Amino acid sequence: MPLRALLYRRPSEPTAIEVVFEQQMYQVRVRRHRLARRYTLRIHSATHEVLLTMPSRGSLKQARAFAHKHGGWIAARLDRLPQEVPFVDGAVLPLRGVDHRIVHRQGARGTVWTEVDGTNARAICVAGAQPHVPRRIRDYLKREAKRDLEAASWLAAERLGVQPKRVSIRDQSSRWGSCSTTGVLSYSWRLILAPPYVLEYLAAHEVAHMIELNHSRRFWRLVERICPHVARAKTWLDDHGGELHRYGR
Ligand SMILES: [Zn+2]
Repeated sequence: MPLRALLYRRPSEPTAIEVVFEQQMYQVRVRRHRLARRYTLRIHSATHEVLLTMPSRGSLKQARAFAHKHGGWIAARLDRLPQEVPFVDGAVLPLRGVDHRIVHRQGARGTVWTEVDGTNARAICVAGAQPHVPRRIRDYLKREAKRDLEAASWLAAERLGVQPKRVSIRDQSSRWGSCSTTGVLSYSWRLILAPPYVLEYLAAHEVAHMIELNHSRRFWRLVERICPHVARAKTWLDDHGGELHRYGR
């Protein structure tokens, strides 16, 4: 939680309220904001989170009334968001941008592997008991993400003559990647779901931050020097990036 949010939250105050609309319960996260003049509601499309912002001196009672009044709006907006895709048998997910169906092979040996059949249909096969399927798929995707992002990062680093300390893979919904001042590159594992040129662009972007910790013209020139498809990747992320958050929640 950002420090500012902590400062304005009263210690005993709940951080979320519950809104019931047509027998459905919705969690609404409450945040006080110094600059807020009124009560506002926002839906985060990536995480499906409902956020209510209120003035720092506003009352929780009013916040609750406001959220209840807009229960229908919350329900309608959440309903319009892309459907979530859990990691279960039969679900389809894009591995490196290519659709793969999850196939549960209970009795098979091994853990997780990919297969392609005669019609070019692709599958991610999972062995083991059914309750372990979601976790095994998730672990597999994280491992694959780490491998691809390490390779792309080392390549970008070699081209720019820098040395990252390590690559870490996270589940951050607010950003695709980050670069610490100590040279640790962090990425969202969900990038393994995007086409490879998008993942390569993100790696080039974060590695270039080891030289320019900003988004200046100099920074973009560095990224473009080592990555030939910056504009295409950025357009893809703008158009489809949000959809990657549908998977495995
Ligand atoms: Zn950046």
